[in-house]
Amino acid sequence: MSYTISITKTEKSKIDALDFDNIPLGTTFTDHMFICDYENGAWLNPRIEPLRLIPTHPAAMALHYGQAIFEGMKAYKNPEGTPLLFRPEKNASRFNKSAERMGMPKVPEELFIEGLKELVAIERNWIPPQQGSALYLRPFMYADEAFIGMRAATKYKFIIMASPAGPFFSKHIKLWAEKRFIRAAEGGTGEAKAAGNYAAAIRPTELAKAKGYDQVLWLDAAEHKYIQEVGTMNIFFKVNGAFITPELDGSVLHGITRASVIELLRDMGYEVTERKITIDEIREASHNGSLEEAFGTGTAVGIAYIKEIGLENETIHVSDESPVAVKVNDTLNAIKIGKLKDKFGWMTKVE
Ligand code: PMP
Repeated sequence: MSYTISITKTEKSKIDALDFDNIPLGTTFTDHMFICDYENGAWLNPRIEPLRLIPTHPAAMALHYGQAIFEGMKAYKNPEGTPLLFRPEKNASRFNKSAERMGMPKVPEELFIEGLKELVAIERNWIPPQQGSALYLRPFMYADEAFIGMRAATKYKFIIMASPAGPFFSKHIKLWAEKRFIRAAEGGTGEAKAAGNYAAAIRPTELAKAKGYDQVLWLDAAEHKYIQEVGTMNIFFKVNGAFITPELDGSVLHGITRASVIELLRDMGYEVTERKITIDEIREASHNGSLEEAFGTGTAVGIAYIKEIGLENETIHVSDESPVAVKVNDTLNAIKIGKLKDKFGWMTKVE
């Protein structure tokens, strides 16, 4: 099915005000947004219009009951200047999994993809040309029905906005293994990209940063023993020449970078096992010298190398160099900008 997306262009682009060599983080938005309304059981009026403020009723249900989900992805350019999206169908299906968990309507995958492509096509000049830079895309949905009362809303907005992002220089980061606060519990919303998950992570992250750490290492809710994720990334360890990553147990977000890194590592000849991983076994591996590398994976930074993990009474030293992780990062980045053959079929061109 193909959707008719009506397009209203801005009269005056803001692009000339942007210094592409110095893009401020998260505060610059492109000229347009894709927007669509859900009412009476159907998605209506898909359109692209100039980015603007949206009137919100104070009783809009998202503000009270938190029905709000989002996605994060990036558009790149190949050497010919054609915009490329990285595995957008994965974001579309994860978005709908999030929607289902939060009692929200699904967005037809074709509408999600067509809205993305149309927006990226219109905003192609906003994709920064510098290596490592990209146009960050933020599809999101929230309940905007004015109603006081606990039930699923009947009105929603689905919006995609875009924000140019400068290059991210990966340094080795320090994690705080958090035992007081948790990110996700069995039966909870850990697998959903629900706004509330991020709200609950803000305070623990601030406390970890005040202690001198970069990110929180999230442990399981029941025993504070099993490793789940790091900050807003999935996590991998290299132990004795092979890779391990926490299994998708219902609390861990199904990271698209995670899935891609597993494929890349296997393609490079490494063994990768998805299983339960305890913080104790990582401590033990560090002590006996078998812990070789650790890294986080996510859309925002690609790969974040990990040098140490702080526990209450001890610091687990990982490594100051992460040669395999660097290689994976370079390979992934080269595929994303069309400099390396897309042998996995991950990239979607926006003509
Ligand atoms: N975990 C969480 C909690 C996240 O928010 C993200 C970012 N979407 C990830 C992992 C990494 O997922 P992806 O590789 O799809 O960006």
